[in-house]
Amino acid sequence: MALRRVMGTRLEKSGFWVWATYRIYYTRTQCFELTPSAHRRAKSALAEHGVALIGEDSDRTFWWTDQGYYWADADLDAEAVELLLWNRQRRQSSQLDRLRKARVNATDVETSRRARIPDDVKVLVWERDDGRCVQCGIEDDLQFDHVIPVAKGGGVTAENIQILCGDCNRAKSASIV
Ligand SMILES: [Zn+2]
Repeated sequence: MALRRVMGTRLEKSGFWVWATYRIYYTRTQCFELTPSAHRRAKSALAEHGVALIGEDSDRTFWWTDQGYYWADADLDAEAVELLLWNRQRRQSSQLDRLRKARVNATDVETSRRARIPDDVKVLVWERDDGRCVQCGIEDDLQFDHVIPVAKGGGVTAENIQILCGDCNRAKSASIV
């Protein structure tokens, strides 16, 4: 059960009205010829089902689909081609979803790498802030906080780091969003 995309096709029309001939080239020199009425039938099949049988070549059939031209094994009918195309699109979109998630994760890792505070900066800040929350002064549940978040361009220098307790830090995060 195979479906293969055909790249580099081209459509040529010669003649006019009922004497017109449509040629769909699938190689430089090989093509399927369609009369105007066959072309019209193919177009309406495409509109209705998303796939239209154009012709065959020994053991394979040539399809015009709303996702391009495809060769299919000769035993596949229109419904099967349609299903395989649908499955292809579905796989592609779930693959894109996975890539999107992977990129978000990669960005998170990069952000937290850039957020890591060097030990000498921690010591400096601890001494400067007197080992207590700069907001409320308690000495419990303390955290190093980026005054300007890394995601917004803040650095890991002492000027941009302060000590906050968990409550004050959460209150701050809530107000930043
Ligand atoms: Zn506090």
